[in-house]
Amino acid sequence: MGLRFLTQLRVDLNPLRKYKYNHNFADTSDEFCLCGFGVEDIYHYLLDCHLFDDIRNALLDNVSGIIGENLRNYSNILLKDVLLYGLTLIQPSEPTRPLYISNAVFSLTKNTHQQ
Ligand SMILES: [Zn+2]
Repeated sequence: MGLRFLTQLRVDLNPLRKYKYNHNFADTSDEFCLCGFGVEDIYHYLLDCHLFDDIRNALLDNVSGIIGENLRNYSNILLKDVLLYGLTLIQPSEPTRPLYISNAVFSLTKNTHQQ
């Protein structure tokens, strides 16, 4: 489930409420996250939603350890790309890191998405 969801996030065909609402899914009456603090889009899900704070903090600690930098210093746009795609955009000479990061993000998607 987590790997499929990660792929769906990458291609922007995912079960987040913003996507489902924009495509008129019958079970989605609005685009707002169930936490009540924003539109459930990829940024909210990956970077902001407080429902996933504990899992996200563990993920950011894990990935920060892998790359040797604190991901919390990255911009949201860069952080989203790192979490979804690994570090190929930043460090193309180190092809193993994206795999480790993808595995870490896989654990986030596996543990947070309810479907
Ligand atoms: Zn939320």
